[in-house]
Amino acid sequence: MTSDQLADLIARMAARLSAERNRLNRLDAAIGDGDHGSSISGAFALAVQKIDKLEEPSLHAIWLATAMALLNGMGGASGAIFGTFFLKGAARLKGVERINQAEMAALLEAGLAGVQARGKAQVGDKTIVDALVPAVAAFTAAEDFPAAWRAAAGAAANGAESTRDMQARQGRAKYLGERAIGHADPGASSIALIFAAAATPFNLSDESEAGNVVTPQ
Ligand code: ADP
Ligand code: MG
Repeated sequence: MTSDQLADLIARMAARLSAERNRLNRLDAAIGDGDHGSSISGAFALAVQKIDKLEEPSLHAIWLATAMALLNGMGGASGAIFGTFFLKGAARLKGVERINQAEMAALLEAGLAGVQARGKAQVGDKTIVDALVPAVAAFTAAEDFPAAWRAAAGAAANGAESTRDMQARQGRAKYLGERAIGHADPGASSIALIFAAAATPFNLSDESEAGNVVTPQ
């Protein structure tokens, strides 16, 4: 994957989150304070702006700009958690012009470890970790980039769906106790959308996109 492809990837994530902003706000209104869609889509829009303005849009600069946009543009505890996912592995990209799937897997694993160190959530706590853990595992286990994004997207979607039956042990929703049961976690749903957006060019069932596949190297 080159820096152009990474910039395109972040832009696809931003577009998807923006399109689903209201749905994410509604999920958060059910078990939190109703701002999640606005804050994450706003922060990703800021990331795209920052990336567009980079003088030297290297892999490192793009990944770091995304981290900083989430840390600063999202605010609060969740901004720190989403930002950490990008910030944690960023240094691995210094001076690197292209990354393969194994290197991207290592980057995602570093991000996940950072999220868990920062937020202390485990699988089952009804947070982004429920989508990230299976997504990163599926990405790492896959053979190549297209398969990795597709597998991660499927795993993240299942992980996000699994939060519906959970009671929250982290974040605002934990104060709801059993009343959080029956609602999918908004953060985990965002992670599912982020991976779905990443996988879009590789979903060969979608004829309209299939013609545009450019396999990252
Ligand atoms: P806020 O709760 O500050 O309003 P958001 O609404 O933007 O922030 O994000 C809420 C999401 O943050 C939750 O749905 C959950 O997925 C995630 N989250 C909250 N606390 C944690 C944590 N400790 N670890 C991982 N993710 C968390
Ligand atoms: Mg919220």
